[in-house]
Amino acid sequence: APPDGPELDLLVGQARAGRARAIGRLVSLVENHDRRLPTLMALLAADTGRARVIGLTGSPGVGKSTTVAALVTALRARDERVAVLAVDPSSPFSGGALLGDRVRMQTHALDPQVFIRSMATRGHLGGLAVAAPQAIRVLDAAGFDTVLVETVGVGQSEVDVAGQVDATLVLLAPGMGDGIQAAKAGVLEIGDLFVVNKADRDGAHVVVRELRNMIALAQREPQDWKPPVLSTSAVDGTGVAELLVELDRFHAHASASGLLSQRRHDRARREVESLVLARLRAGLPVAGRAGLDGLAAEVSAGRLDAYAAADRVLNRS
Ligand code: GDP
Repeated sequence: APPDGPELDLLVGQARAGRARAIGRLVSLVENHDRRLPTLMALLAADTGRARVIGLTGSPGVGKSTTVAALVTALRARDERVAVLAVDPSSPFSGGALLGDRVRMQTHALDPQVFIRSMATRGHLGGLAVAAPQAIRVLDAAGFDTVLVETVGVGQSEVDVAGQVDATLVLLAPGMGDGIQAAKAGVLEIGDLFVVNKADRDGAHVVVRELRNMIALAQREPQDWKPPVLSTSAVDGTGVAELLVELDRFHAHASASGLLSQRRHDRARREVESLVLARLRAGLPVAGRAGLDGLAAEVSAGRLDAYAAADRVLNRS
């Protein structure tokens, strides 16, 4: 049964104490767009803003999960508490158990300081722009030092997720998404760090060189962050320590330069805006919604323009 008022307090208390079951249930409330979300978010607000949120994105098969597992190992060696959130913006199916089942994460599955969870966001009110920050807030309030957000879906979702995190790590691999493809996919703009994984394979250094050349072409001020291009072999952990050093360096830069607070501000703004739009949409007068097809017929037949149709829905004329 879903938790009620007093039980919600209890769950939040347990989540703050790091209890995985409670944290999982709170993420489920977010995923299911539970009606008590406003209450939950109000309870959590004061405890947020501490976690470092890192997004990993890249084509399927480049080694995101393997890299996440390697990063978790490296962060655990520093005694950090780590949460992994795999978001699939394209799927309506919850994957609560999916990620934990993966062999690569088995080493961490029994570690109480590591929380691993998949989340579907399609169908969520306000979509990814609201669901991801809410889930991240749950994990942040639960006291995780680092939250790793991995995208599972493909396509535009890669770029969208970049707007939900403090730092975006773009992964590529030789032979399956070279530099040129990265440029086409629009990921050159979103990466704070680039990682060419599968460095043990032929051609990795070519991808590194191509990426460095393309990054060097971008307009930037001397004080701006210049995304480094690293190479890793996540399967055996090669290069992961260096990756962590660069992630730390980025975080220090972003904190000192104001970039981090700017990003968090933009994120909050998008979240509020998405909620407002979702509420407006949900609150459209029934006649307006029902009449949408009628209006569409008028517009497509050229009897009405789209602006006038919109005014009619909003009862302005
Ligand atoms: P994801 O789809 O991006 O999450 O990619 P996975 O982490 O599932 O990795 C896809 C495949 O590539 C798996 O078979 C991994 O074992 C393999 N893989 C990951 N990292 C490396 C690496 O550094 N070198 C090699 N040779 N294979 C890797």
